[in-house]
Amino acid sequence: MTAPARTRSSDELISAEQPVLAHNYHPLPVVVARAEGTWVEDVEGRRYLDMLAGYSALNFGHRNPVLIEAAHRQLDRLTLTSRAFHNDQLAEFAESLAALTGLDMVLPMNTGAEAVESAVKVARKWAYEVKGVPADQATVVVASGNFHGRTTTIVSFSTDETARSGFGPFTPGFRIVPYNDLAALEAAVDGTTAAVLIEPIQGEAGVIIPDDGYLAGVRELTRRAGCLFIADEIQSGLGRTGSTLAVDHEGVVPDAVLLGKALGGGIVPVSAVVARREVLGVLKPGEHGSTFGGNPLAAAVGSAVVGILETGEFQRRAAELGVVLRDGLTALLGKGVVGFRSRGLWAGVDVDPAIGTGREISERLMREGILAKDTHGSTIRLAPPLTITAEELESALQALERVLTA
Ligand SMILES: *Cc1c(COP(=O)(O)O)cnc(C)c1O
Repeated sequence: MTAPARTRSSDELISAEQPVLAHNYHPLPVVVARAEGTWVEDVEGRRYLDMLAGYSALNFGHRNPVLIEAAHRQLDRLTLTSRAFHNDQLAEFAESLAALTGLDMVLPMNTGAEAVESAVKVARKWAYEVKGVPADQATVVVASGNFHGRTTTIVSFSTDETARSGFGPFTPGFRIVPYNDLAALEAAVDGTTAAVLIEPIQGEAGVIIPDDGYLAGVRELTRRAGCLFIADEIQSGLGRTGSTLAVDHEGVVPDAVLLGKALGGGIVPVSAVVARREVLGVLKPGEHGSTFGGNPLAAAVGSAVVGILETGEFQRRAAELGVVLRDGLTALLGKGVVGFRSRGLWAGVDVDPAIGTGREISERLMREGILAKDTHGSTIRLAPPLTITAEELESALQALERVLTA
């Protein structure tokens, strides 16, 4: 007789992590063991409504059946070739993603940070080869409060001291201007500028939505200045805001769009630079690459994600339920909520600091069966899977009200 497998409790697993896992995160004390759709379940079988959705990597829900089916089918056929050979999944992925975004070419990578890094490299090369910027003089203009990832080059142009401090020396060639300020952007752009790189909505900063006209202004300004407009849609894109891309709200087409997170359907890391032919066309064999980028499993899942977005169903859900979210949060103004910003199923909620830090509110929400995460200070980010129902959303808002008015 074999002894029953010893299973460890949530508390035991959290303690076990402590000595062996790098402490670069401070997770809420919940240990998730399974999930489906909008719901996750911990080791002890307690259920929680997921109001974070893996920072928007799970836009289509946990284990979306269409995406799981695509992954299973591909797992049984072919998982990796490297780009030394072609694979039979990549053409469709690139064709469908280019069509979805209205752009021409795709550079497949894995993580969001890699897409950003790749875009910086491509923009520099474009500046030298197409625009004619003198060697090693190219600049990229970014916005304060940005979040584009964690690599050495990317934290070089972060304004978050926690993200930067202790990690220098930094990569030169970046200019930082205030977000949502076209005059400052105009002043920073000159003959050396390869690109303006911004988030159409700043996610990590607390879901900061620029004024109407800002994105169209960036488009117009970069066109006039002869530099690229690169939109980091890694968090804002793929349905979250009620449209395929957040730039769609202003009918703007950037020169390059960066995608990640939900592009992998919550199953595998998939990211991409999607751009005009003139931009991605600067890359030649050997100049850039990735062992896993464009692998057949990623491409199969990515194609299935694009297939889901082609129906428009999730964009519509996000737009419609976004009204429920906005109305619910409006009703909480003065009841512990001091302000909020939302677009589609995405909100940054500023809670009264007298009630608690964002962390404390998140912990109290957790005890109410709602998983959400603070960003900075007393701001809570809400970004449920787009599979959420109106009833589930209402129940999350009621839990928030209970926590804020207890
Ligand atoms: C998450 C995120 C990234 C980085 O993605 P990783 O996959 O974590 O490297 C880049 N840009 C934005 C806007 C993001 O939200």
